[in-house]
Amino acid sequence: MIKLHDKYFKPFISAGEIEAAIDKMVVEIANDLGDEIPVFIGILNGSFMLTSDFVKKYPKPCEVTFIKLASYEGVKSSDDIQRLIGLTQDLTGRTVIILEDIIDTGKTLAEVNRIFENEKVKTLKIATLFYKPEAYKKDFKLHYIGIEIPNKFIVGYGLDYDNLGRDLPEVYQIKETQHMTNIVLFGPPGAGKGTQANFLKEKYNLVHISTGDVFRYNMKNDTALGMLAKSYIEKGALVPDQVTIDMLNAEVEKNADANGFIFDGFPRTTAQAEALNKLMDSKDSQINAMIALEVEDEVLVERLLKRGETSGRADDADESIIRNRLKVYYDETAVVSDFYSAQNKFIAVNGEGTIEDITERLSKVIDSL
Ligand code: AMP
Repeated sequence: MIKLHDKYFKPFISAGEIEAAIDKMVVEIANDLGDEIPVFIGILNGSFMLTSDFVKKYPKPCEVTFIKLASYEGVKSSDDIQRLIGLTQDLTGRTVIILEDIIDTGKTLAEVNRIFENEKVKTLKIATLFYKPEAYKKDFKLHYIGIEIPNKFIVGYGLDYDNLGRDLPEVYQIKETQHMTNIVLFGPPGAGKGTQANFLKEKYNLVHISTGDVFRYNMKNDTALGMLAKSYIEKGALVPDQVTIDMLNAEVEKNADANGFIFDGFPRTTAQAEALNKLMDSKDSQINAMIALEVEDEVLVERLLKRGETSGRADDADESIIRNRLKVYYDETAVVSDFYSAQNKFIAVNGEGTIEDITERLSKVIDSL
């Protein structure tokens, strides 16, 4: 990730992908033009890098020139296109290829077409490295397109954000969600994840998602999801990954404006951890840390049996189901910590002691993130 002025940008298109797109455009254009000597016109400032790389790769003689237009301020295209340097040579009868770094709304292109209205060129063709189909509002034909991209602001490879970023050899996309704090609260059943999440969500203004709670809500309301999950939950086994992942995605989507999330009881498998990473990526965000509450097994069994006296949870009432849940945790879930350790995001916290002491320990960790 990089920061330019006040905004963050994430890697989007690599230098290799850009080069491959230019190679493809060079071949297409060279095949179409045959032995004709074209005039390539780069639109400054953005297309200086493209024009340079393009003509170096162009296999036959060609001419190169530039016109300079200014079309946007900050991160939005503006209506006011200024012609700063126009055409400086006679192009009568010539084949002209415009080299654009990006075609967005098409306003710059409209100005380019105005410039050529009274020029008696033989052919005028438009080539653009990047093209945003969702933003394009004009009818001018685009003859050669390198890479189609979504309607998001990008920088790099000639493109800038308030003059920074033009020098980058690859392209970055703006991060729209600027700062979320996302925590996976980890640990075996009975470690106190739910209890602690209730305090932490208030303190840090985060949304708490407990997959166990969502399953229980669905079971109570006899939904199709609840009925499916019931047979697994009653045995203390895990609900299948795809069912759980789809449910979790839907819960996150319901809270699109959240400052961040505390995930409790999820992820429980490496496949779930990978799915969560993907989901965070799609939100331009990430998991900041997995915080694991560590508690001795016998303390866990004791806590769960005690909770079973009042929770109404069948899977808390029976010691053999509790022991199976612990076994499932060690056999299937504990490995998820390796996933976060490998990214230096795993932090263990002593989960024994008073509720207040444990909240305090967890807060220290979160404050340090
Ligand atoms: P919990 O309330 O977190 O102890 O979850 C209760 C039960 O719900 C578990 O024993 C599983 O059967 C099911 N469950 C909760 N979260 C998940 C998950 N991430 N993956 C699979 N099953 C889950």
